[in-house]
Amino acid sequence: MKPSNQSAPFGTETSLVTSGRDTAAQKGFVNPPVVRGSTVLYPTAEDLHEHRGEYQYGRHGTPTTKALQQALQALEGPKCAGVGLAPSGLAAITTALLAVLKSGDHLLVCDNAYRPTRNFCNGLLARYGVETTYFDPLIGAGIAAHFKPNTRAILVEAPGSQSFELPDIPAIAKVAHERGAIVLDDNTWATPLYHRSLEQGVDISIQAATKYIGGHSDIMFGTISANAEAWPLLTEGIRLLGVCAGPDDVFLALRGVRTLAVRLAHHQRSALEMARWLATRPEVVNVLHPGLESHPGHAIWKRDFTGASGLFSIVLKPAPQKAVDALLNTVRLFGMGYSWGGFESLVIPFDCSSYRTATAWSPGGPTLRLHIGLENVEDLKADLSRGFDAFNAA
Ligand SMILES: *Cc1c(COP(=O)(O)O)cnc(C)c1O
Repeated sequence: MKPSNQSAPFGTETSLVTSGRDTAAQKGFVNPPVVRGSTVLYPTAEDLHEHRGEYQYGRHGTPTTKALQQALQALEGPKCAGVGLAPSGLAAITTALLAVLKSGDHLLVCDNAYRPTRNFCNGLLARYGVETTYFDPLIGAGIAAHFKPNTRAILVEAPGSQSFELPDIPAIAKVAHERGAIVLDDNTWATPLYHRSLEQGVDISIQAATKYIGGHSDIMFGTISANAEAWPLLTEGIRLLGVCAGPDDVFLALRGVRTLAVRLAHHQRSALEMARWLATRPEVVNVLHPGLESHPGHAIWKRDFTGASGLFSIVLKPAPQKAVDALLNTVRLFGMGYSWGGFESLVIPFDCSSYRTATAWSPGGPTLRLHIGLENVEDLKADLSRGFDAFNAA
């Protein structure tokens, strides 16, 4: 599946807008139709016997899924051999793991990984005879010490979506490849626009496209991009599992891709401004944002990423729960809810110590995760200022 502009010398923003567009097939319309389809008719018995034709069955692809896959493949860059689509981010992660692992294998997972990913490893994968070991996200080449003869895969998340440690992916990938293991990256935070995982040595790059790819808090979606080594295994796994995505969600994901560059640039700018402002607040003892010079992962971020998105965390000075709740109940522009990556700002309290096993989590105070949306930044500061007033008064 070649993106239409694979060899064109375009910048990424142009590629986001032009890739996956087959204007002639779309009868001149800029966007592809939402193709709803299970059955694909074959013109002759011979075509049927040989499964000839661009499309064979709805689950295996439609003109709508093809347009999205081409656009995402162009975004991932030349190392990407194909993109699989899944009905949620978590389904993308579990599908990728099931595709590469077998009973008796050993899996290494970053201790800052998305909690439902851990639940899947500790639950279903354990039942199917796959053993998981969690490791310190900052381990780098020290990952070698965790290898067993049956270590088959490593899953990293860069950065962790609550605690924001940045693993050294090239160092981890080098060790993995010397030992024949596959590297998977949950790349949801930066998206391939700001972090081309596949070029950093990752074999399978996963997106919870529910977040920035969709970008409007209106779909559940996941994507799985693989390099040439991992693509045959991945595509086989997707076929065997019967994983596919609904046509409306595919269309909305593609619409999100078209505006990804402008949205992320805005999220990045506003989030950095908010992070710097929060660092000056007396109520805040630490800001966990890799784009800040003070962040322990800043050097890795500068080396491996071309941007930061709108999600980061803050550590408040020690305070009773009712003070934190007063802040949460006072802010109005920061909605309280799970997920992120849409146009709206969000705030959620979290506590990594409830699930971590390989590393300690003692941030020094209550922790809040913020998603900085597309609102006016001064409005967001004023909103949080009111929240801090309530925090101090409680
Ligand atoms: C949200 C999220 C997921 C899961 O995505 P869903 O679409 O909600 O299933 C996976 N990884 C990370 C880092 C996430 O933030």
